[in-house]
Amino acid sequence: MRFRYKLVDRIPMQMEEGVVYHTEEFELAGLLCACGCGHRITLIVPDSHEVWDDGGYATIQPSLGVFDAPCKSHYVIRAGKVQWLPAFSGSQATKIMQGQIARHVAHDAMPASWLLRSIATALGFARKLLAAVIGGGSR
Ligand SMILES: [Zn+2]
Repeated sequence: MRFRYKLVDRIPMQMEEGVVYHTEEFELAGLLCACGCGHRITLIVPDSHEVWDDGGYATIQPSLGVFDAPCKSHYVIRAGKVQWLPAFSGSQATKIMQGQIARHVAHDAMPASWLLRSIATALGFARKLLAAVIGGGSR
């Protein structure tokens, strides 16, 4: 299966497998998990991930970690092709989330308001994901 890229006004309720939906207006992307488990993945674009149209196929950076579904899949999608990566443990997930937040901070020459919004979004997103992994969301 190769993931096609589809620019949409909003993410549909019923997503097709093998399609990455991207809405620039809402700064979101959505897809069904590549493992076939049917889990809906929502990405915050570009705060957590970047999504490109790569000749009609989707490229997503950085890797997708599915922490909030039983499959715990981890993969990258490049030009629609799925490359599988080792699954995360809970502590690795925490580190990766912290790394993503640090990358936002490292963005140079961005206006402070943009940076703060970006960090707030990243932290909120990380907290949600971690709550799903750890359960209860403590620390
Ligand atoms: Zn899955």
